[in-house]
Amino acid sequence: MSLAFTYQALPMRVLFGAGMLARLPEEVAALGLRRVLVLCSPEQEDTGRRVAAALGDCSAGVLAEATMHVPVEVAKRARALATQLGADGCVAVGGGSAVGLGKAIALEHGLPVIAVPTTYAGSEMTPVWGLTEHGRKRTGRDERVLPRSVLYDPELTLSLPAGLSVTSGMNAIAHAVEGLYAPDATPVISLMAEEGARALATALPWVVADGADLDARAEAQYGAWLCGAVLAATTMSLHHKLCHTLGGTLDLPHAPTHTVVLPHALSYNQPAAPGALAALRRALGHDDPARWLWDLAGRLGAPRSLRELGMREDDIPRIVELAVSDPYANPRPVTAPGVEALLRAAWAGRPPG
Ligand code: NAD
Repeated sequence: MSLAFTYQALPMRVLFGAGMLARLPEEVAALGLRRVLVLCSPEQEDTGRRVAAALGDCSAGVLAEATMHVPVEVAKRARALATQLGADGCVAVGGGSAVGLGKAIALEHGLPVIAVPTTYAGSEMTPVWGLTEHGRKRTGRDERVLPRSVLYDPELTLSLPAGLSVTSGMNAIAHAVEGLYAPDATPVISLMAEEGARALATALPWVVADGADLDARAEAQYGAWLCGAVLAATTMSLHHKLCHTLGGTLDLPHAPTHTVVLPHALSYNQPAAPGALAALRRALGHDDPARWLWDLAGRLGAPRSLRELGMREDDIPRIVELAVSDPYANPRPVTAPGVEALLRAAWAGRPPG
């Protein structure tokens, strides 16, 4: 088959490097913003206040209420506060939760978002928003929520504990894995996926060995940027569908769920995705990438079973039913017995395959 594809570049600026946070006031001014609301999670309020102080008069205030999956009530409070303070933009400092809150404001009020990521989740690179109401998460794509600028400063990730670093990094690798066998994969995005997986696979053991090593943190964040860009450019398949269902239905934690499911979803798909398999073999330096990721999680002390994340075994049939209810693109046909076997292994913490 001859080469044919559509590639859509996203309009955003990326600034990368240790100490880059110092460039934030300049970046705010370059976007023509004068009063920005700083968003962060309650646990990162100190960081949020430090960012606001660095912004001086350009800071309209700090809202330290970002939480997983963006509850609608938090989004409403954030929008009201942005209006009350006369904010003309937001600076989201943190992981996917803080960036998600910025996107929720942008979605209704159109305020530009500058993202300053402190995990490896990748939301800062995507035009995908999410909002949760009555236990149901709605998601959608909208160019308005895509951050205008992203400042990656590895110094801000020095405080990310080893456990969160590994699970968040695995979450990023999952974007690369599914981007490689996506129905809308393109050669340039596959290059980014392979390099992103390689960078994170190199960086994660290094970060666990020495979380204060700025070079290790920079390598991990470089990988996270690439994997986030892959997530933005491609359609995700079985792995993300399962994690979305497990998170939405059973409230399992986002990054640890990705960490547990990824080796199993990849093991299910890799025989049917030879191009992705070859790229991952090069990136990870192992013949069986799924097994290698499962071993890596064990070596780095990350969770390997859905049971330890709080899932009950009798929830498996419900998740299987939801995961096969709507058709979606996947390299290997998604069947109920196939997904059930995958989930039973992931629940018990058995090796994949
Ligand atoms: P998170 O943002 O909820 O952060 C997890 C915890 O880590 C929080 O308590 C936070 O305060 C803490 N933390 C973050 N950075 C830290 C640091 N440097 N030092 C110390 N503590 C730190 O978790 P996440 O995994 O980054 O994001 C998950 C959320 O993002 C989910 O809601 C997920 O659905 C969403 N997400 C969305 C997209 C998208 O494209 N829309 C992509 C990926 C994730």
